[in-house]
Amino acid sequence: MRTKIFNSILFDPQSDLHLKPVEILIEGDIIAEIAESVDKSADQTIDAKGAYVSAGWIDIHVHCYYDPNNLGLHADTVGCKTGVVCVCDAGSAGHSNLDDFYQSVKDQKTIVKSFINIASTGLAYKAELRDPANVDVAKTIEKIREYPNFIVGIKVRASASVMGEDTDTPFIKAREAAKATNKPIMVHYGNKPPLMEDVLQYLHRGDILTHCFHGKPNGVLNEDDKIKELVWTKRKEGLLFDVGHGNESFSYEKGKKAHDCGFDADMISTDAHRQSFPVPVSSLANVLSKMLEIGYSLEEVIACVTSRPAQYLDMRDEFGHVSKGGKAHLTFFKVDPTPVTVVDSSRKEILLNRQILTQGCMISGEYLEVE
Ligand SMILES: [Zn+2]
Repeated sequence: MRTKIFNSILFDPQSDLHLKPVEILIEGDIIAEIAESVDKSADQTIDAKGAYVSAGWIDIHVHCYYDPNNLGLHADTVGCKTGVVCVCDAGSAGHSNLDDFYQSVKDQKTIVKSFINIASTGLAYKAELRDPANVDVAKTIEKIREYPNFIVGIKVRASASVMGEDTDTPFIKAREAAKATNKPIMVHYGNKPPLMEDVLQYLHRGDILTHCFHGKPNGVLNEDDKIKELVWTKRKEGLLFDVGHGNESFSYEKGKKAHDCGFDADMISTDAHRQSFPVPVSSLANVLSKMLEIGYSLEEVIACVTSRPAQYLDMRDEFGHVSKGGKAHLTFFKVDPTPVTVVDSSRKEILLNRQILTQGCMISGEYLEVE
C-alpha cells in the first residue's frame, strides 16, 4: 500500500526541508520519500490542507489504564483522537497488574508505553507507598525484563498523600530496579513531605521530574521567584524536567516565572486522566499552546513532544524525526491565530493569542483524523 501526503509543510528542524512545502510517500509503514515534489503514483492520497507535518507526537505522562479501580482514560482518547501517536502511562500499573494493563491497551491504535510503578499495585490503591511491603524490587525487575520495549521507565510518586513516614526507601528501591534494567526514574512530586530538595538527591542524569511547574509551595522556584540553585545544578547534571499538567499540577504563572529566569521544561506532557480531562487538560496541543503563550518557540514545544522524548526514552529508532526509511509516525497540526481563553490547574483563565490545533496523525502508515 502506497500513500502520498500532499499540500503539507514539513516541521522537522533536523531536516534540510524544515518549513518547506513537501510531499511524503509512505510505503506500508515506512517513509519512502520526502521531497518538494514526489513524482510517483500512490494507492491513496492525503490532502494535508496546508498543515505542518511533524514527527509523531509523544505524550510522556498520561493515565490510560481503563479500569474501574484506576483513573485512566482509553489510550486512543488521549492519543490518536487528539493527534498524538504515542502515550506513556505514568505508573498506573505496578508489577502485579502490569499484565492486565498491557492486555487492556495492546489493541488500541495509539502506541502505548509504560512507566511501571515501583509500588506493586500501581494506582489501584492511591496511597501506594504508605506500606513498604507494597514494593518488590525483584518482581519489578522481572516484569521490566519481560516487557523490554513496552516499559520505558519506573515511576515513583513522592508526595504527602502517597508516601508514609519513610520517604527514602521507595527511591532506594526504585534506583535498584533502574540500575538493574538501565531505565530512567520518573518522579511525581507535590506537597511535602518529602521536600523537593530531598527528592532531588535521589535523581540523576536521564531521570525525569514531572509536574515541574506545579503551584504548590514545594516547587522549583524560591520565594523570590528565582530558580533554586539545586534545580540548576541538577539540570546541569542531566536531570530532565517535564510539565505533567494534570488536574492540580500546572501553574501558568510558575511556568512563566521559570521561563523569565531562563528555565524551560525539557518535555511537555498532559497527565490526562479522568479527573483532569477534558478540563483543565483538553489535549496535548492545548498544553503546548499554553507553553507557546508563556514564550516558548514553536520549534521548542514541538521538540518537547517529538525529538526529546524519543531521545530520552531511547525510542529514536521509531520516533523523533521525519526521515526517509523511518517509521511513518506523523502528526498533522496548524497554528490558529484566533484568540481563545483556557484555564490552568488553578482554574485561572489564560488568554491564548494563538492556538496549536491538530488535524490528524499517522500511526505506522495509517492516517487517523482528529475527532
Ligand atoms: Zn500522573
